[in-house]
Amino acid sequence: MYEQPELGFEFDALEPHMDEATLKVHYGKHHTTYVKKFNDAVEGTEFSEKDLGEILRNLDTIPQDIKLAVINHGGGALNHSFFWRCLIPTKEFKEIDGKIKAAIEEKFKSFEEFKKQFSDAAATVFGSGWAWLVKGEDGLEIIKTSNQGSPLSIGKVPLLVIDVWEHAYYLKYKNLRPDYIEAFFNIINWEQVEKNFLTE
Ligand code: MN
Repeated sequence: MYEQPELGFEFDALEPHMDEATLKVHYGKHHTTYVKKFNDAVEGTEFSEKDLGEILRNLDTIPQDIKLAVINHGGGALNHSFFWRCLIPTKEFKEIDGKIKAAIEEKFKSFEEFKKQFSDAAATVFGSGWAWLVKGEDGLEIIKTSNQGSPLSIGKVPLLVIDVWEHAYYLKYKNLRPDYIEAFFNIINWEQVEKNFLTE
């Protein structure tokens, strides 16, 4: 059983950057459905008791008949849980600082250059997917995953993510994905990103 974690803030806490109506549907319908469908798929198997991160790190151990459901719904469940933790209420936002700032500046030359590359990646995800800052063998990198693909499945440690499925922004931003990406930078929880960077 995978349990959907608490959102951690009120539905209107990310206004005006991420609107209340979108967040209610996104957390309460989309994310909830991924969790339910994942649990349904693994019910009665050994995977119902395993850690979802471990499952996604070891996709080659999943039986063929439930593999696609695990990738899609298990990925959807964990990706969204991770996404919410990357966000912070508008009123509590703090600029990037500390070790994660130093690491980003070392890798990307400047924070502005990182922001440009991350935003470009998010804007150019074709169809539905996610753009990530991850840590791998070569240090920090920006990657994209399609649908509900997880960086864990390719051996990367996720540090930051943006959901660029249309359900994440269409109610407020319509087809203007770049505006949503720009607004996202006002609600990134950099302390959490730094924790992700330091703990694994
Ligand atoms: Mn989503």
